Amino acid sequence: SLEARHISLSYGSTEVLRDVNLRIEPGEFFALLGPSGSGKSTLLRLIAGFNQHQRGELLVDGQDITGTPPHARNVGMVFQNYALWPHMTVWDNVAFGLVERRETKEAIRRKVGAVLELVGLADYAQRRPGQLSGGQQQRVALARTVVIEPKLLLLDEPLSNLDKQLRVQMREELKNLQRKLGLTTIFVTHDQEEAMTTADRMAVLDKGILQQVGAATGLYDFPVNRFVAGFVGTAN
Ligand code: ATP
Ligand code: MG
Repeated sequence: SLEARHISLSYGSTEVLRDVNLRIEPGEFFALLGPSGSGKSTLLRLIAGFNQHQRGELLVDGQDITGTPPHARNVGMVFQNYALWPHMTVWDNVAFGLVERRETKEAIRRKVGAVLELVGLADYAQRRPGQLSGGQQQRVALARTVVIEPKLLLLDEPLSNLDKQLRVQMREELKNLQRKLGLTTIFVTHDQEEAMTTADRMAVLDKGILQQVGAATGLYDFPVNRFVAGFVGTAN
């Protein structure tokens, strides 16, 4: 499980996260919703270890990981722009994290082969990212992240570059993959429908404050304030 307790983070005098409390259970698909600038990426980066909070505790399975560097956290993050290496093949992009961990050649071949199969890109292993469609690039980014078997999968608007039809298809695929691998997942999105259709639970963030956390239908039917109602509800 992941637990944030009274987390606050400021850039200079700007408070970006304010007293955030959150608990995410193993295997859960959790959506984080909120307008631009509300602090969603900052919270993900903090969990991944790229940002440091000034107050509060961050626990994974009960252990405080505040001082643990990103590579030792076993957290996988997919960035909005995918951040693939353009000069490397699909295969090498996906293998990179395993090579870095000094896994054996045989283990790397087996794991990369299996994950490319899983995301339907076995035939594209020798292409470069520039020779792929947006949806295929998105799958490479996902493959590269899940191949290291992260304890926690963080997705920062992974579908926002795709057109509507592909978004819907990819979110089904994403959900299936997450279920199959039993990955604890935090999924950041602007899109309330995307959150409602994929998440077990969701949270709405505004100005660095978690407004409400709960089952998707709970937020829809019983918003605690006007902001949540406007953002999640039929008013949207
Ligand atoms: P979006 O939906 O547009 O991606 P977001 O919810 O992910 O927005 P963040 O990127 O977390 O928002 O940013 C939250 C706030 O923190 C914004 O006001 C932003 O300007 C500010 N911020 C983010 N990174 C920094 C930084 N390195 N230095 C100073 N301010 C920052
Ligand atoms: Mg963001």
